[in-house]
Amino acid sequence: MDIISELRAAVRNIPDFPKPGIQFKDITPVLAHGELFRHCISLLCETISHQHVDKIVGIDARGFIFAAAVADRLGLGFVPVRKAGKLPWKTRHLAYSLEYGENAIELHEDAVSAGEKIVLVDDLLATGGTAAAAVELIESLGAQVVSAAFFIELEDLQGRTKMPQVPIHRILTY
Ligand code: AMP
Repeated sequence: MDIISELRAAVRNIPDFPKPGIQFKDITPVLAHGELFRHCISLLCETISHQHVDKIVGIDARGFIFAAAVADRLGLGFVPVRKAGKLPWKTRHLAYSLEYGENAIELHEDAVSAGEKIVLVDDLLATGGTAAAAVELIESLGAQVVSAAFFIELEDLQGRTKMPQVPIHRILTY
């Protein structure tokens, strides 16, 4: 089996979690398998190796796992975008709509600087609401999101259309 097929086989689909109708992609078996996790991080890194990048921004919470590993591999700084109320210092705050209700994320004001080139990393691109909000927060501080890399993209939800200016890369699609 090639590596993409192995990664795909390791992702566990959980129907109706956390609510009816959602096909939850459980990535924990990939994380628990040393070789697969390392390949996954290598593939994410390959999507960005050709660009000049200053920092990797990861999204709370599963995104941290992938983003921190990518940052370490590339020798770049890691910056967290967190759910509202978690970051201790001065923050930029952005509320955005979900399918049902609202969510809000935050970024420390000094976490990225004007002119910096940023790659956004998360585990999964679904509706794109979270990633698009993260892009808006980062760009509100004058930094530029040069690309975004996801382990999984749920293509039917067309999340990438919420950030048409950002090149999107992904390893697996469903
Ligand atoms: P969205 O804002 O709709 O693109 O959702 C993004 C976040 O929700 C991702 O960071 C995922 O961690 C999580 N998520 C959404 N849908 C799923 C799914 N079907 N399986 C696993 N995680 C999901």
